[in-house]
Amino acid sequence: MITGRFAPTPSGRLHLGNILCAMLAYLSARSRGGRFLVRIEDLDVPRCPRRLGEQVLKDLRFLGFDWDEEPLWQSERGDVYRHYLDEMTRQGLVYPCFCTRAQLMASRAPNQGDTQTVYNGACARLSAEEAARMAQTRAPALRLRVPDREMAFTDGLYGSQRENLARDCGDFILRRSDGLYGYQLAVVVDDALSGVNEVVRGRDILSATPRQIYLQECLGFPTPSYIHIPLLTDADGRRLAKRDRDLDLTELSRRHSVEEILGMLAFSAGILEECRPASLRQLIPVFDWGKVRREDMRLARWEADE
Ligand code: GLU
Repeated sequence: MITGRFAPTPSGRLHLGNILCAMLAYLSARSRGGRFLVRIEDLDVPRCPRRLGEQVLKDLRFLGFDWDEEPLWQSERGDVYRHYLDEMTRQGLVYPCFCTRAQLMASRAPNQGDTQTVYNGACARLSAEEAARMAQTRAPALRLRVPDREMAFTDGLYGSQRENLARDCGDFILRRSDGLYGYQLAVVVDDALSGVNEVVRGRDILSATPRQIYLQECLGFPTPSYIHIPLLTDADGRRLAKRDRDLDLTELSRRHSVEEILGMLAFSAGILEECRPASLRQLIPVFDWGKVRREDMRLARWEADE
């Protein structure tokens, strides 16, 4: 049986892009009689106060979503993540990293852009004595050693993907120096323990998937199937940004009914052939991944918005 999920980071109200992702994850699972779960990814507690997570759940209910278990809140699961981190530490896969932000920036190769930093492995070469001495003055981050080999998977929409973790990504952080667990670790542990076997999420996370597959390998977890969905753009092809306030639910629900919002998204994604109001329930029988666009999805507009 399919178990799908929607795992929002509640740093604001739900936005059209999140709603599209939730809708596709939900329809994919429900159209095949599967289970659907919701998880609140509020690891970064200062950015994601409880009330925003509660609001996300309220928004999802308002839109007509239902789910099969009490939602998990990542902020409450530190002990679970620690358990799996300890397991990898015992396997000798984890090492402390004392590099400061400034050191990481300085060691970056000139051709690396602002977003991509392949860690140079400086702390991987510290002896146990050196690491113990440094730990007296500075709390380290914890990094996972990655192998010099290709991780491959087939994405449901984007097809065959491969990445050499050592070359393209580098040893990555499992726990930050301030104690916050890394997103990759939390996602992998939570999906596995909840029995999630189908992950539907935005294309912006496609590049994190090889790291997550490697973590599953280290922890002996099965790999779910992955379907990354195209970005939603405005009618002119520009990426929708979180700062476009008129695209979050506060503003949307002032101008449109739930069925209008969902129908517009379903049409933009290719599920409906015309832009007409539809509830989630009405979309379940017409959903088919074969209809879903692979290129960026341009948001349709209701005539009243033009
Ligand atoms: N929490 C992530 C986000 O809101 C999604 C993580 C995932 O679906 O794996 O962007």
